[in-house]
Amino acid sequence: MNLYSLPAHSLLVLLERGEVSSEEILSSFLKRVEEVEPELNAFITLFREDSLSQAREIDRLRIKGGKLGRLAGIPIAVKDNICVQGKRTTCGSRILSDFTSPYDATVVKRVKNEGAIILVKTNMDEFAMGSSNENSFFGPVKNPFDPERVPGGSSGGSAAAVCAGEVPMALGSDTGGSVRLPASFCGVVGLKPTYGTVSRFGLVAFASSLDQIGPITRDVEDCALLLGVIGGYDPQDSTSIDRPLPHFSSNLRRGIKGLRLGLPQEFFPSGIDPPVKEALNRAIDQLSSAGAEIEEVSLPHTDKAIATYYIIADAEASSNLARYDGTRYGHRAQEAVDLLDMYNRTRDEGFGDEVKRRIMLGTYVLSSGYYDAYYLQAQKARTLIRRDFEDAFSMCDLILTPTSPTPAFKLGEKIDDPLLMYLSDIFTVTANLAGLPSISIPCGKTEDGLPIGMQIIGPPFADGEILRLAYAYEQLSSE
Ligand code: GLN
Repeated sequence: MNLYSLPAHSLLVLLERGEVSSEEILSSFLKRVEEVEPELNAFITLFREDSLSQAREIDRLRIKGGKLGRLAGIPIAVKDNICVQGKRTTCGSRILSDFTSPYDATVVKRVKNEGAIILVKTNMDEFAMGSSNENSFFGPVKNPFDPERVPGGSSGGSAAAVCAGEVPMALGSDTGGSVRLPASFCGVVGLKPTYGTVSRFGLVAFASSLDQIGPITRDVEDCALLLGVIGGYDPQDSTSIDRPLPHFSSNLRRGIKGLRLGLPQEFFPSGIDPPVKEALNRAIDQLSSAGAEIEEVSLPHTDKAIATYYIIADAEASSNLARYDGTRYGHRAQEAVDLLDMYNRTRDEGFGDEVKRRIMLGTYVLSSGYYDAYYLQAQKARTLIRRDFEDAFSMCDLILTPTSPTPAFKLGEKIDDPLLMYLSDIFTVTANLAGLPSISIPCGKTEDGLPIGMQIIGPPFADGEILRLAYAYEQLSSE
């Protein structure tokens, strides 16, 4: 068995038993990177030498019997919108292509404190805007199952890297599905925690009321492990929630007997791909045989979700991205005649088409005269969507849906039709609008071998319950 195909918790057991060294683990992943990376393009910046010397350092500490963290000697990938001190953070954009982070994001500090080794910053849709990872200044990422297909976005580099065995675990960010959609397209596990559970300090802001950082891993146990490391209160993020974090890993095996699972009819429309529907039906049967109770529930405002999300996300983005004007960060246009011209040229040269589209739409929906018609309406619809979930959770404990109506689509298939692209997020955006925890886990494959994802959504702070159901399903489906 190759080390690169093992999840982090298995690697940690081997490390503890002294059967492998961290340097051997790093070398195995680096060799794999050489094999697959030229085709995948999942990476933006690789820290080969730094990582190897950190691995040797941890090996020395282990031999000496020094205190080791929960992820000691495990390589990890970080999406390139999360700051790592002294390294560049590009957000997949030309405008930040030379920007070096002056500090570590809280999540980065926490994984480093536990001894994890940051191996790479991963490719992504520019400023996390996209569903296919085709909007990157550094070129598209390919799906490891089929290089003609997209890995999903916007954390496509993180998901493809975990899927292909370039790293055992990764961090992504999820504003409207960007952890879960690529996890589903790449056949890995991806969790968006309850809003406020994981600090956003050091995450480059896209839409601040929706953004959450989440783990992307090979299995549910690693997901619980990584969430336990990155989660918990951080005074540096004003939206961080001061509440004790449950012990996710030790609660995974508590079983699912009597758990009430809600199936929202709106998430099983007739347009859904037959293999996706069949895979979900099989999973529902398995879970019901294992003792879960299945209930029909309704989330009646789901048809408003895409419009609501794209108004709110773009409005917040237009404001958050105002800071990239060539003055303080990154790229600055050279041939400007005056200050305004410098701003204009910098932004014109620095941003790609999709980001410009979002800034224009966001500015429009916030402009006086249109604010009430769009932004205010969207906020009201957001409240209705949140209430739908409150009602549904009075009937069930957790909600089960497909992560996406289709498996991974072809590169180029939707890129010229933004609306079609936005519709890929139909099942994921509501959890962000309502602030709810939600996971995507592998749930079978199509006849062509493309992975299908199942999504579990929970009420606020049910991250642990979601992981428990996900773990139970993972066990059932591997039997
Ligand atoms: N695909 C969605 C968008 O383009 C979600 C992105 C995200 O979650 N970062 O906005």
